[in-house]
Amino acid sequence: MDQVSYLQSVESNARTYAGNFPVVFTRGTGMRMIDADGREYLDCLANAGTLALGHNHPEVKEAVLQFLSSDQLQQALDLATPAKLGFVEQLLSMLPGDMGTTSKLQFCGPTGSDAVEAALKLAKHYTGSPSIMAFHGAYHGMTAGSLAAMGNLGPKSRPGMNTQGVHFLPFPYTLRCPFGTDGSQTDRLSIDYIRNVLSDPESGIAKPAAVIVEPIQGEGGCIPASAQWLRELRALTLAHEVPLIIDEVQTGFARTGTLFAIEHAGIKPDALVLSKAIGGGYPMSVVVYGKHLDTWTPGMHAGTFRGNQIGMVAGRETMRIIQRDQLAAHAAKIGELLIGGLKSLAQRYPFLGEVRGRGLMIGVEVVRPGSDGRVGAADGARARAIKMDCFKRGLILETGGRHGAVLRMLPPLIISEADAGAVLDRFEQALRAVDRG
Ligand code: PMP
Repeated sequence: MDQVSYLQSVESNARTYAGNFPVVFTRGTGMRMIDADGREYLDCLANAGTLALGHNHPEVKEAVLQFLSSDQLQQALDLATPAKLGFVEQLLSMLPGDMGTTSKLQFCGPTGSDAVEAALKLAKHYTGSPSIMAFHGAYHGMTAGSLAAMGNLGPKSRPGMNTQGVHFLPFPYTLRCPFGTDGSQTDRLSIDYIRNVLSDPESGIAKPAAVIVEPIQGEGGCIPASAQWLRELRALTLAHEVPLIIDEVQTGFARTGTLFAIEHAGIKPDALVLSKAIGGGYPMSVVVYGKHLDTWTPGMHAGTFRGNQIGMVAGRETMRIIQRDQLAAHAAKIGELLIGGLKSLAQRYPFLGEVRGRGLMIGVEVVRPGSDGRVGAADGARARAIKMDCFKRGLILETGGRHGAVLRMLPPLIISEADAGAVLDRFEQALRAVDRG
């Protein structure tokens, strides 16, 4: 039995990416991954967005190696250490607006899901309300509380799964407006609906502990919320005194062309959930929340691995490099190039129904032919065929969104212009091959 089949036979059926990429990867540098046969792949997934600086960034590696050989504490629960002090200073200095001076930090242990759990728990404790509001298409993680806030019914539809205490709201979606319109009014209709839910004494929905939202839905299909919609959501939640939790697990740290996606809208949430890139490739997650919320008591959110010192060292170095090398501006520039290139491909390949995203968080929705000028149904099978063909050509990307019909690109932020061109070339070759059938 080969090594890939061996792992397939011993690992859980719940695995996803691995089944799509049936090789053994032995090395990685920057945005390149190398398999056991020496084949090279352009990595447009970056470990689901955690590798902001790509694989084995030399300065991050050096910082980790120095730390490992220093005899400092490698695991430290939530004790004070030089690694933690350096990390905290760096993070606070990067937060938008006055958040660096008005916030408290909760280290979580150490996944995005756990940070979401912490933020929800904090908001419930603060408000005394048992329920929250989340959005259609949302993804916040796989643990019980975060799973309950997920739009996708697939992972949570069996009896006994936690689906209680969440009221779902329509997320604006231009291509497939949840109100059935042509999409031009999707923002306004969504906000009007939320306003009504929060203010109508007969809406049947109690005031929640929090509204939680991704500024660009990631797993839901790379669907950006407009800056205006986010501002109006902030205004509404402030007016109704409902804490707003922004989940930037995927969008944080320059991914969307600004250090944080909330900067596109200029809003200040009550809590900001951070993970993925924050650990520089090592497990790490943090909730940044307003000091006014800090009403919980010792022990209310614990976790053995909240003190991941290597994550703090690698994360600090990664944040420093993101700032030093102005990678937010770089992500915006290369993102425009990629999105522009994909849009021109979409004109030639009508099964590419929409190209969307911001910075280096990009989605291409694959559709069947529509009728009467309307966009066709999502075509997950064709999206998957394109992904697999890309893989054969040395390009790694993922599918997501409803019916798995959105091809998603999350390349590392250090992607060069030349590599962006190579990504577009390989993608186009795959489109041509799949179109020929
Ligand atoms: N929130 C968002 C927006 C995410 O994209 C993810 C992961 N894709 C999570 C939360 C959960 O993070 P983790 O997988 O580390 O639990």
